[in-house]
Amino acid sequence: MPVEPSPPDARSRELFARARQVLVGGVNSPVRAMRGIGRDPLFIDRAEGAHVWDADGTRYVDFLASWGPAITGHADPLVIGDVRDALPRGTSYGAPTEREVLFAEAVVEAFPSIERLRMTSSGSEAVMGAVRLARAATGREAIVKAEGGYHGAVDGLLAQAGSGATTLGVPTSPGVTAGATAATRLVPYNDLAAAEAAIEGAAAIIIEPIAGNMGVVPPAPGYLEGLRAACDRTGALLILDEVITGFRVARGGAQELFGVRADLTVLGKIIGGGLPVGAFGGRAEVMSELAPDGPCYQAGTLSGNPLATTAGLAVMCRLAAPGTYERLEEGGARLEQVIRDSGAPVTINRVGSMLTPFLTDRPVTDYAGATACDTALYAAIARGLLARGVYPPPSQFEAWFVSTAHRDDDFSVLTTALAGALDEAGA
Ligand SMILES: *Cc1c(COP(=O)(O)O)cnc(C)c1O
Repeated sequence: MPVEPSPPDARSRELFARARQVLVGGVNSPVRAMRGIGRDPLFIDRAEGAHVWDADGTRYVDFLASWGPAITGHADPLVIGDVRDALPRGTSYGAPTEREVLFAEAVVEAFPSIERLRMTSSGSEAVMGAVRLARAATGREAIVKAEGGYHGAVDGLLAQAGSGATTLGVPTSPGVTAGATAATRLVPYNDLAAAEAAIEGAAAIIIEPIAGNMGVVPPAPGYLEGLRAACDRTGALLILDEVITGFRVARGGAQELFGVRADLTVLGKIIGGGLPVGAFGGRAEVMSELAPDGPCYQAGTLSGNPLATTAGLAVMCRLAAPGTYERLEEGGARLEQVIRDSGAPVTINRVGSMLTPFLTDRPVTDYAGATACDTALYAAIARGLLARGVYPPPSQFEAWFVSTAHRDDDFSVLTTALAGALDEAGA
């Protein structure tokens, strides 16, 4: 009897079957399950530069970049070397370190709007701290956020359902109380008039200065400046969630790129060099409301963790090399060109090295536009790319990232894979 050839992802399938017996849905973060593109996940064994290898030993050109952190490529020798040196000195002390001072100095230098920083272990945690602080500092409760804006798995911000006219938050997830989102006001992204109205009496507006979690949606000209002015007029704080954009679109994030000053800035992803991290910061006067200087409580056992701090410092150091952001821009432009040349029926939104090809022929400026895309076609193309050695984000509503490690060969692999995937998808 002929033996069935084993599928190329046999080991991933086996691991997924086991994972589902012990991890919910077989994963530790929902979108990793790849349900959005209608297949099972690949289990990753290792990563280096612009590539990841799955458990079956197949190599992929990686455009996910761990959802953003891997901006200088995976297993950057500088990061690995510094973390290796740091390891024997211990993994956590629960006490201040020189490294976290160096880390904070690097962030403060990069972001003129940040005078004082507080580190956390994730972006979500940093968002929670920033929102609590904004409420403490203003004595107000309402928080304005954009539909489709993602700020981590934070109860009060897990609200984006409802039409553009909705101004009161309705929880998107069971388990989030109506009370938790009662003070959350939703506005469509890029709609300045709606934001100006919603900001009245609010503690803050929290916004991704370049949306990255509905796919990449840049701010319309004047949008961020308008939000700044509305905050100045009403006394609300402008919280820029730069967890993706910080050190990605410029060293000083989107606020440097667009020349807008935040009251509070939230960072994460890149600044941890692939280790768990988050941070938020702002003017000394506002930040001093935080304990131990002020009454607003915020804390974390592993905050400022020596390994995360070491890895983040190494990446920030790497990114300070002259020409880095020009190189990231070139990589982003190259990725955009390859996708355009493929003839895929897409609208491409790109800022520097972050990009989303939306399967639509219409401009995408907000969540409604993003969700109007052909997600089934995206799924088919993404599956086709994975079968051809390219690892795209496993959802239409995510950013593709280029790192400084992507080379000519990688774009050639993409060109070929994309042609095959589009052909197979009938696009
Ligand atoms: C990823 C992300 C977060 C959450 O960060 P975690 O480290 O996953 O908790 C918050 N805001 C934005 C804009 C993000 O992209």
